[in-house]
Amino acid sequence: MNKLKSLSNIETPCLLLDKETIDKNIQRLNHHIGNLGVTLRAHMKTAKSVEIANFLFEGAKGSITVSTLKEAEGFSNSGFTDIIYAVGVSPQKLDRIYAIRKNGNQLKIILDSKEQAEFVSEYVKRTGDAIEVLIEIDCDGHRSGVGPANKERLLDIAAELKRGGALLAGVLTHAGGSYSAKSKSELETAAEIERKAAVDAAVILRSAGFDCPIVSVGSTPTAHFAKDLKGVTEVRAGNFMFFDLFMAGLGICTKEDIALSVLTTVIGHQQEKGWIIVDAGWMAMSRDRSTTNQATDQGYGLVCNENGEIVIDLIMVSANQEHGILAFRNGQKCSSKEFPIGSKMRILPNHACATAAQHQQYYVIERQQIMGVWSRFNGW
Ligand code: PLP
Repeated sequence: MNKLKSLSNIETPCLLLDKETIDKNIQRLNHHIGNLGVTLRAHMKTAKSVEIANFLFEGAKGSITVSTLKEAEGFSNSGFTDIIYAVGVSPQKLDRIYAIRKNGNQLKIILDSKEQAEFVSEYVKRTGDAIEVLIEIDCDGHRSGVGPANKERLLDIAAELKRGGALLAGVLTHAGGSYSAKSKSELETAAEIERKAAVDAAVILRSAGFDCPIVSVGSTPTAHFAKDLKGVTEVRAGNFMFFDLFMAGLGICTKEDIALSVLTTVIGHQQEKGWIIVDAGWMAMSRDRSTTNQATDQGYGLVCNENGEIVIDLIMVSANQEHGILAFRNGQKCSSKEFPIGSKMRILPNHACATAAQHQQYYVIERQQIMGVWSRFNGW
């Protein structure tokens, strides 16, 4: 990458990605799950960027997960062929899925009902494309999936897929409940519940004579706190590359591990109120307030100076569309001399997926220098 503009003359608000930090975060997770004998199927729903996927896999075209067909199309066009679209499928999506697969991609889908298996079967009969399907398992009552005790529903889905000629590629679960864990032991328990639910479902299917090659688990919290991944074939995590204040509040990372920030410019002060006004409002940060229910509420984000050093207790307390209001948590007044109009600050996000989604691109920085611009897919 060629050296581009410096942070002080770039237009704000914009998204910064610290290359050394993302690299460290990727290595940390690869090391942890590698020790447990499992590989990563990175979830690209957070990064939504081909350049980041290339960086993550060091130029190889590794296995990935996506959350939209726009991502599936974009990654497929960039040579990624082993993709799971990990959001339950509806009939209207099948034409786009088929078009991606027709280009030689092994795009796989997930479902959790006989009704879905029926329309997928009909589609397979019509197109002759034996699509690979994973059955979604609900490990913790968080969202969708077949409950672990619901053996009959699981086997009914598998039988219906077989009848139509689809390929049962495996089972997949996501421990969404881990985001509300309160301690290390609760995180470890969530990881084990996730593992066990997926492995038990695979055993049920195999005992009934079905193939179940993929046993896929994952979320950023459970991926880091799993102590044993026996029976699992792959781990999906996406947020782990960037991390955010929510993950720091949960104890998965430190604030210094957060690779993503929004660069903003000071545009005013309200001295009596102790406020600094900046040009990043909720359009740049998102409306995510997910740290509200954690021990430390970070407002709309935690403020750093231009070099990325945290300004202790300075947060974005309020956000309008294009205005952010920064104030100290303890009521201490902000000095307009210390943070003059035109100076730059960086805001660490509550939720990296939501903040990144507000932007079209990443300015990639290395030792505070902008080294390149990486693109994102937004939309569906
Ligand atoms: N797998 C599925 C199905 C998901 O929905 C998600 C996140 O929403 C993940 C994996 C990755 O989880 P995280 O964002 O915690 O890395």
